[in-house]
Amino acid sequence: MSELNALSDVDLSMMHHVLEMAETLAEEGVHPFAALLVDGAGNKLMEQGNAYLPDQDMTGHAERVLMTRASKAWRPDFLASCTMYVSAEPCAMCAGAAYWAGLGRLVYGLSEHRLKGITGNHPENPTLDLPCRLVFESGQRDVEVIGPVLEDEAAEVHETFWQTHGK
Ligand SMILES: [Zn+2]
Repeated sequence: MSELNALSDVDLSMMHHVLEMAETLAEEGVHPFAALLVDGAGNKLMEQGNAYLPDQDMTGHAERVLMTRASKAWRPDFLASCTMYVSAEPCAMCAGAAYWAGLGRLVYGLSEHRLKGITGNHPENPTLDLPCRLVFESGQRDVEVIGPVLEDEAAEVHETFWQTHGK
């Protein structure tokens, strides 16, 4: 958990918030993935839960939807000063969306690799286990990535949710 050293008090507080959002989603029967966008001064700008429902949109990942909303609201030069906090590491699609929106910084809880071990090939979440750092490193500008952080806590909701969901 050495990544914790890279976190500010604001980062920790935002991560706790996004993990609580994921818990609430699980209670509502929604895939427990949450994302939160915060500006450089620590103000919460937008939050987004998983949007698979109601249309069974397989691309409705919280981070992808949040980055689309953010890109419609702000230009990349502003988003470069923002941090997105996510309960689980962005998949390749979501990291791509963050790259294209112009996000500057990302903090995530649960790694895709560990998530894959929990969900396996679940029909609603066949986890795409590619480190988001690899996606960002293939781009042409820097995106700071911190994670996994609070990973045990971030894993808990998934360990219970996917055992029963959709079965
Ligand atoms: Zn995704």
